[in-house]
Amino acid sequence: MKTSNAYETCTGCALCLLNCPVWRSKKDMTLTPYGRFKAMQWGSSTGEVPDGLNAGVDACTLCGSCEVLCPVDNEITTITLEERRKLSVIGERKSERYSRYLKKGGAVFDANKVADKEVVLVAGKGCVEDALIEKAVALLGGSGKVCVIEADMIVFESAYASIEDEADAVRHIFKNAREVVLFEGLLLRPLREILPLSKKKVISIGERLLREPSIRRELLSSDLYIVDARSYNLDHKRLLRLYNDLKKDVGFSMNLDLHRSAISLGREIFSSDDDNKKNVEAQARWILEGRSFERIVVENPVDADIFRALTEAPVTTLLELI
Ligand code: SF4
Ligand code: SF4
Repeated sequence: MKTSNAYETCTGCALCLLNCPVWRSKKDMTLTPYGRFKAMQWGSSTGEVPDGLNAGVDACTLCGSCEVLCPVDNEITTITLEERRKLSVIGERKSERYSRYLKKGGAVFDANKVADKEVVLVAGKGCVEDALIEKAVALLGGSGKVCVIEADMIVFESAYASIEDEADAVRHIFKNAREVVLFEGLLLRPLREILPLSKKKVISIGERLLREPSIRRELLSSDLYIVDARSYNLDHKRLLRLYNDLKKDVGFSMNLDLHRSAISLGREIFSSDDDNKKNVEAQARWILEGRSFERIVVENPVDADIFRALTEAPVTTLLELI
């Protein structure tokens, strides 16, 4: 990825602060892209100021909400992930979840399992229930055709960051894949960059499920539909058209502008930062405010529990509609 010097184009407009959940909860400029990029323009770099830039790189929820506001189209989440990789390399960033995953013998990709399958489903085991992953496999063609890669959020970060160095290895692992379906929107960019597949073939689980007539048929005009915020923010221009068409077809309730501002919801429930958890709840309340609906349908299963905790209406996932 060619983003290492992207901070140089930052104009200092501070628009990215408007949507940033970290800014909203901490009100600390050094934790924002604005503060970080300006410091970098003046010569600071990650790793040199352990309590300054590093804390901002760590605090970012990678929601992508800032990117849609940035007038110079800085791919802020990609830059942050690159910075995280540098911190990991120099030993400054130790992730409990990552170490736990590695201790259990986890691996980012299991080449033998993946290489001979046509469809690769990258699922966040631990975040998404096994039964739902099994449902997704059945829907995408069954276990003879579909391979599941289990990886958690922190492993995704590693995969994302190391892809430039290991692009050939990744291409080899996915060499027979005709379609790659992702529960984690953060992987859309790097995989689209390195795999010889069209954008339509490296897609989020939400977009993929919406292509199934059997699922679309089950959506109702009385539903409140919750998009997967990360995939939406990181592929915004293309997905905006898809969701606008869907909204027109079904006639249900959905606020696409609000979703651009809403942080990636469910995964932050796993965060060890209490402010992040409060943010998740505040954002979900914000999405619900003033809406009338009979049911909530979430695109990404990781978002279901937060809405279940806040409303008495039934909450279901796209996968459970059939
Ligand atoms: S990705 Fe989200 S948390 Fe990170 S800087 Fe942007 S808005 Fe803030
Ligand atoms: S919105 Fe973009 S240009 Fe403006 S301060 Fe943030 S990163 Fe810099």
